[in-house]
Amino acid sequence: MCGIVGYIGEKNAVPILLNGLQKLEYRGYDSSGIAINNGKEIEYKKFKGRLTILENHLKENPIAGNLGIGHTRWATHGEPSDENAHPHLNEEETIAVVHNGIIENYIAIKEELINKGYKFKSQTDTEVVVHLIDSLYEGDLLTAVFKAVERLKGAYALGVISKDHPGELVAVRKESPLVVGLGEEENFIASDIPALLKYTRKVYFLEN
Ligand code: GLU
Repeated sequence: MCGIVGYIGEKNAVPILLNGLQKLEYRGYDSSGIAINNGKEIEYKKFKGRLTILENHLKENPIAGNLGIGHTRWATHGEPSDENAHPHLNEEETIAVVHNGIIENYIAIKEELINKGYKFKSQTDTEVVVHLIDSLYEGDLLTAVFKAVERLKGAYALGVISKDHPGELVAVRKESPLVVGLGEEENFIASDIPALLKYTRKVYFLEN
């Protein structure tokens, strides 16, 4: 169980996500990654290893956008690797998901999605979540996420963004922690308060 962060507002999300992930480093992790909506598409970077690997890569290859999610992973399903690192995306790369926790019924959902033609790139339990959202998506991201979590058993804190919804950061939790931070013309999510304190003192814990 490690950390997630998310940002929506008027600033560039990338430094805010990286700062938040640094503040969650104490929770331990084996990989890290971010995804942003840059106004045209979802861009993402994810690597096995220390957060500095992601940070150094982004210094050389900067990306920017006003909406984004980030993750530090503590592998439960699938070895630590670039492919298994979060975020996970649907095939068209229009939806990106970060997840903390364990989806206990992922094998059944995965089989069902493979039968529908979905292709999996990772060994994680998490990847079923993004394909499930994709399979339930009919134009409303929040509705698709609600329908998807009805199917999930286990523990999860999820951050979800979409190419087609530049004004929406969807977050949901069950058993895994998730904090919402309210700012001026900007809002945040994180697994724990230290990731938000630089930006806002208005924080509240989401109920399951
Ligand atoms: N179960 C997921 C995985 O192994 C998430 C692990 C985590 O909470 O970092 O990828």
